[in-house]
Amino acid sequence: MENRSAQEIWDAALGELQIQVSKPNFRTWLERTVGLSYQDNHFVISVPNTFVAEYLDKNQRSLIEKTLINLTSSPDIKVTFQVDGRFQNSSGNGHYPWPENTARFNSNYLFDSFVVGDCNRLAYAAAQGVAQNPGRFYNPLYIYGGVGLGKTHLLHAIGHLAQARHIPVICVSAEEFTNEFLRALHEHKTDEFHQRYRNTGMLLIDDIHFICGKKQTEESFFHTFNALHNANRQVVVTSDRPPKAIPFLDKRLRSRFEWGLVVDIQPPDQETRLAILEAKAKERGAFLPQEVLEFIAQRPAQNIRELEGSLNRVIAYAKLLKAPPTAELAAQALEDLADKEPKDASSTPELVIAAVAESFRLSPSDLQGQRRDKETVLARRVAMYLLRQETGCSLAQIGQLLGGRDPSAVTNACKKITLDLKGNLYLKRKIEEVKQKISPESPKKRG
Ligand code: ADP
Ligand code: MG
Repeated sequence: MENRSAQEIWDAALGELQIQVSKPNFRTWLERTVGLSYQDNHFVISVPNTFVAEYLDKNQRSLIEKTLINLTSSPDIKVTFQVDGRFQNSSGNGHYPWPENTARFNSNYLFDSFVVGDCNRLAYAAAQGVAQNPGRFYNPLYIYGGVGLGKTHLLHAIGHLAQARHIPVICVSAEEFTNEFLRALHEHKTDEFHQRYRNTGMLLIDDIHFICGKKQTEESFFHTFNALHNANRQVVVTSDRPPKAIPFLDKRLRSRFEWGLVVDIQPPDQETRLAILEAKAKERGAFLPQEVLEFIAQRPAQNIRELEGSLNRVIAYAKLLKAPPTAELAAQALEDLADKEPKDASSTPELVIAAVAESFRLSPSDLQGQRRDKETVLARRVAMYLLRQETGCSLAQIGQLLGGRDPSAVTNACKKITLDLKGNLYLKRKIEEVKQKISPESPKKRG
C-alpha cells in the first residue's frame, strides 16, 4: 500500500471525507489541501494557511486519521498539517478560493501607536485579547464610543495582527457591507457574497449601526454572523452607541451583539490627551516643547481627531512663520482657528436642525417630514429640545421649523428628553455631540 504516493492516498482520503463532512465544511477546510509525504506512519498534509492548519488540527484530526488508517490498512497514522507558503499569495485558482487577505488596513492604526489611558483601557485590552486569541474569549467584541475616539484604529490594529498570522480577514465598514450586499442582490450573486463572508477567518465591521433599518442587509448580516460565530471565528464590530440603543429591525441582532463583550471608549482626559500629543508629535518627527503640548492638551477636546488637528495646526503655523513653537504661538494658531468658526451662526435654528440631522445620519427634511420610525422620532425630539435650549425660538416657531407641528408636541418632546437624559447615556452623548457641532469651543472663553 505504501508504494502509493502520498498524494494518491490523500486524494482517496479526500473522496471519503467529502462524503463524511458537510459541503461547505469540505470546501472551506479540505478542498485546497495536498498530500505531501507519508513515511513511518507519519502523514504530512499541506494546507493553505495557519488558520486552516489550526482548524483541522483541532476539529478534524481524528476523522482524518481514521480515514487514512482505513485506506492504508496500517495500524496507526499520525497526521501533521503543514502550511504551504505558495498558497499565501495565490488567488482565484480554486473554485472557491479563500477570501484574500486583501483587506487594506491603515498602516498607522497599530496597537503600538495607540495611546492607552483610562478612557480606552478596557477597549484596548479587549481588542488585544481577540487579536491574540481570535474566536476564543469574547465573540463578538463590540466597541462603541463617540466620533474620533479610536474605534477604527483598534479595529485595524486587530486586522493587522490577524493578517500577520495569516488569518483571512475581511474588514469593511457597515456601509460597504451594505453596498456590496445590495450589488450582489442586484446581480443575483448573493450566494457568492455569503460564501465569501462565511469563509473568512475573521470579520471586522466598522460602524455597524449603519445597517440598522435595512431589512435584507440586517438579515444577511445576521446569518453571516451566526455562521462565523458557530465556527468560532472572531467577529468585531464598532458603533457610535451600545447595542441596545440601535433600533435594529431584527431584535435578535441586538442580543447577538450582547452575547460577547461590549466595551466603550470615552473622550480622553487631559493626561491622555497629553500622552497622545506627545506620541503624535514624535510620530511626525516634530519637536515641540512640553509647554506647547501641555497648552494644547489643556484645551478641551471631545475627540482625538480634533486633538491631532490642533497639533498639526500648531506645527504648520510654526513652519509658516518660521518661528520657534512656543505656547504663545500655539495660542495664536489655535485662536485664529476659533475665530474662523462662524460663531454668530452657531445659534441659528437651521444650524441646530442640520447638526441634529447629521448626528443621527438623517437629513433635515427627515426631521421636518412624517417619518415615524424610532430613530427619526428621537432625532426630531432632540431637535426640538435643542432649539428650545440654544435658540430664542418660541414653541410655535419650533413647531413651524419642524414641519408645522403643534407647539404642544414641542413641549412634550422637551419634557420627554429632559426626563430621558437622566438615565440615557446614549442620548446624553448625542446631545453633547450636537452641541459641540453648533458651538465650537473658543479658547478665549477660558481666558
Ligand atoms: P473613530 O473610528 O472612533 O471615529 P478613529 O479610530 O478614526 O476614530 O480615530 C481618529 C484619529 O485619532 C485617528 O487618526 C487615530 O489614529 C487617532 N486615535 C484615536 N485614538 C487614539 C489613541 N488612543 N492613540 C493614538 N491615536 C488615536
Ligand atoms: Mg471610525
